[in-house]
Amino acid sequence: MSYDYLIVGSGLFGATFAYRAHRAGKRCLVIDKRPQLGGNIYCERIEGINVHKYGAHIFHTSDSTVWNFVNSIVPFNRYTNSPVANYKGRLYNLPFNMNTFYQMWGVTTPEEAQAKIDEQKKDALEHMRNEGVDQPRNLEEQALLLIGRDIYERLIKGYTEKQWGRKCTDLPAFIIKRLPVRLVFDNNYFNDLYQGIPIGGYNQLIQGLLEGIETRTSADFFDDRDFWEKQAGKIVFTGPIDEFYRFRFGKLNYRTVRFEQQTLHIPNYQGNAVVNYTDLEVPYTRIIEHKHFELFGADVYGNPHTVISREYSSEWAEGMEPYYPVNDERNNRLARQYRELAQQEPDVIFGGRLAEYKYYDMAPVIQRAMQTEI
Ligand code: FAD
Ligand code: UDP
Repeated sequence: MSYDYLIVGSGLFGATFAYRAHRAGKRCLVIDKRPQLGGNIYCERIEGINVHKYGAHIFHTSDSTVWNFVNSIVPFNRYTNSPVANYKGRLYNLPFNMNTFYQMWGVTTPEEAQAKIDEQKKDALEHMRNEGVDQPRNLEEQALLLIGRDIYERLIKGYTEKQWGRKCTDLPAFIIKRLPVRLVFDNNYFNDLYQGIPIGGYNQLIQGLLEGIETRTSADFFDDRDFWEKQAGKIVFTGPIDEFYRFRFGKLNYRTVRFEQQTLHIPNYQGNAVVNYTDLEVPYTRIIEHKHFELFGADVYGNPHTVISREYSSEWAEGMEPYYPVNDERNNRLARQYRELAQQEPDVIFGGRLAEYKYYDMAPVIQRAMQTEI
């Protein structure tokens, strides 16, 4: 055997694990079935702009160990996520804060905003009482109870139904249980201590993690499983767990996102990295303008071009990218069955969002990989 570890998948889990194992003196080979390294954080450079090919990625965490670790590989910039919502041509700040309440109702003080929210909540409570229920039965009732009808109808309903492909009355309440509502003028989407984008783009992070490690792209583990298994004593598997077990209990489902990408020969299309389209008539959920992740202020105009991606959310089918796990009863049960098999596997480490069938942000994936025993 030529290697201690065969690492299947060069996303953040595989790359972080490989980095640590390499530093611990282990011989590692990283393979990926895609033509490039990096998993979902891979960026393609177009007109001098790093384009997030597999969806916009904003790094955020409150864990200083993870933050210091990634910054030791590549320093991060000061990008702060503050998406804007476009509802029928009117703009609102997110997350819901004093700016949003001013735009929605013209209220100018926290007291006025609170009074407006309370009035809307009262209506929602009364409506539920009339229906004879005391607990929200679905996402719609939960949202009405948390923030009231105006915000629900303009900023939540359409976006959520497009994102999940189901009516808010058919979605579980928990999805929206912790909507941040702030009575201060603060458009920072995250509450985390740290956030940003690697200076020079995410590929710098992956290159830094994989420096000095042997890698092969366009190499699918399942195309020659016997061959790959013979290469190393242990395998770190970050692909889909059901595929590893040849779908013996059935296939896991996902939701996916399709991107329509356009290069425009103007310097500034929408003035922000993220604009959500929250009405149902617009078929896409949001438009990403990639340059704003890395260029700020007047620097935006230093590049006369821009690249935008319209995001369409859809059900996953064979051949599409599996993005979001579907945490309904069937899929949770299947995932549990596969995990039980995985636990009995002495020489295979399963890690990351596909192998664990779990929706993970980047920082928790890195944290898991940092804590995995080598
Ligand atoms: P991946 O990055 O998916 O890597 C797995 C790799 O394994 C892939 O490269 C794949 O090609 C390879 N592979 C699979 N099967 C095989 C095989 N048979 N042989 C060889 N290689 C194989 N997180 C945030 O923190 N902030 C965000 O803003 C954010 N935005 C997101 C937006 C979208 C649309 C999506 C889908 C996710 C987002 N995430 C975000 C989550 C983030 O992408 C993940 O946390 C992270 O990429 C997971 O890394 P991973 O290594 O587990 O998986
Ligand atoms: N959401 C919404 N309107 C918005 C943005 C978010 O109603 O403009 C709701 C929606 O239900 C979504 C949830 O908040 O499913 C989480 O959204 P976010 O985009 O933050 O989550 P992600 O897709 O990154 O997990």
